[in-house]
Amino acid sequence: MKTALVCGAGGFIGSHLVKRLKREGFWVRGVDLKFPEYAPTEADDFLMGDLRDQRVVSGVVDRRFDEVYQLAADMGGAGYIFTGENDAHVMHNSATVNLQVLEASRKRNVGRIFYSSSACMYPEYNQEDPLNPKTAEDSAYPAAPDSEYGWEKLFSERLYLAYARNHGMTVRVARFHNIFGPEGAWDNGREKAPAALCRKVAMAKDGGNIELWGDGQQTRSFLYIDECLDGVLRLMRSNWTGPVNIGSDEMVSMDQFAHMIIGIAGKELGIDHIEGPQGVRGRSSDNKLIAEKLGWTPSRPLSEGLEVTYAWIAQQVSSGRRDDASLAAQ
Ligand code: NAD
Repeated sequence: MKTALVCGAGGFIGSHLVKRLKREGFWVRGVDLKFPEYAPTEADDFLMGDLRDQRVVSGVVDRRFDEVYQLAADMGGAGYIFTGENDAHVMHNSATVNLQVLEASRKRNVGRIFYSSSACMYPEYNQEDPLNPKTAEDSAYPAAPDSEYGWEKLFSERLYLAYARNHGMTVRVARFHNIFGPEGAWDNGREKAPAALCRKVAMAKDGGNIELWGDGQQTRSFLYIDECLDGVLRLMRSNWTGPVNIGSDEMVSMDQFAHMIIGIAGKELGIDHIEGPQGVRGRSSDNKLIAEKLGWTPSRPLSEGLEVTYAWIAQQVSSGRRDDASLAAQ
């Protein structure tokens, strides 16, 4: 039986990845500071542990896993990443996890290791025009990410690629662009725009308004979790060795995005544009490379994934559930 290790298995993407690997017949070990908050883990073995700690990590990577997925990171949406208040934690915590997990995986000679980087590593100067953002993989340099989170991702990408060159490890690096779906943070200070807007719409009274950070003209694209996992597994098992975008190229303004959610909810709501952290002015995934090298691009429209996500968040809101566990875990 093939074995996989998922680091960050208590988080949004990690918990979905565990389910997918189980469906594929893997024996899966998950590790995180916390259990998944919204559904029980499906991992065969789930270790609660701090991946910054070398002793913990050598206990976690105690065999030659066929596949290691390193998704653990100190991370959140714009309200966590772009305020500046969490910069030292973000850089220290995520870089330490990456250093420890990669070195332990080298010692155990694991089959393949996947690292989840982010579109946040792309230079700010290429994302100033909301209608023409540039995110081709080879546009990463000269580097100028707009957040320390992005700088740490760039450092860690380079770390993984250096281990591939110097230690002959089989490394795969994806740059995720705004992944969304059910069973992710929606109200704990780390939620990202899709979940935050779904929550605001679900909580708003018909005829009222929702608040949106910025003027609404900033652009983004969003990729549904199932499609993200299709891309991750395709990349992991391919021979392509360079970093590659995993995202959608269906670019929308944040106003359009909010109106899509309002339409799904079937409510009449206005939008109040307020000051708030926003990140770059425009961003969408450039999918030329992944289409060419892996024959993959997302297959379903944004609205489909949004319908499922809105339904899940509306259910959380109407059942009066709280979403405050993950900040406490840090
Ligand atoms: P998430 O916050 O839901 O999951 C990350 C998990 O890592 C959390 O459960 C957290 O507890 C765990 N973790 C953090 N520090 C840890 C430590 N010291 N020891 C053990 N576990 C630790 O985030 P996610 O959305 O699932 O993202 C997964 C990965 O993908 C992250 O590396 C993130 O930076 C990257 N990414 C995500 C997106 C997105 O849109 N969700 C976009 C770009 C990149």
